[in-house]
Amino acid sequence: MAARQVAGLAEPWSGVPAMLRRRGLRWTPQRRLLIEVLTTIQGHITGAELVERCRGLDPSTIPSTVYRTLDVLEELGLVRHCHGADGREEYHVLPADDHGHLYCGGCGAVAEIPEDAAAALTAALRASHGFSVDVSHVTIVGRCPRCARAEPEAEVGRGP
Ligand SMILES: [Zn+2]
Ligand SMILES: [Zn+2]
Ligand SMILES: [Zn+2]
Repeated sequence: MAARQVAGLAEPWSGVPAMLRRRGLRWTPQRRLLIEVLTTIQGHITGAELVERCRGLDPSTIPSTVYRTLDVLEELGLVRHCHGADGREEYHVLPADDHGHLYCGGCGAVAEIPEDAAAALTAALRASHGFSVDVSHVTIVGRCPRCARAEPEAEVGRGP
């Protein structure tokens, strides 16, 4: 890992210290570390993984501090939580819009549900059940194309 930058944070994270202070939260080294870790992430990461990465850089990291800070960052729109296949919280860093997720039970890959597919899904459920879907909380479990292709081969099973 490259040397951590100790000077300014890049946009849109540079405003975070002031936003936290406005909410009565101090800008602490642990919070700063979390933000620095978040700036290196593209897309999704689980809460546990975030805690682990912070711990790797600062063993005194307190998980509850990480999760509390994530709650505030979500209110600020910098992260958005969803739920993995097992219900545990995952975070989308700098989400562009609300989206659902496809979760591969074979390899654990996560993909976003394309906007047109999500629109078709929510329209169908609204029509059939009068139900308004919270797209950001939709996680569909299945098999990604690669795992779906790999499975028939696995079933053939070459003996030793
Ligand atoms: Zn939730
Ligand atoms: Zn996402
Ligand atoms: Zn897969």
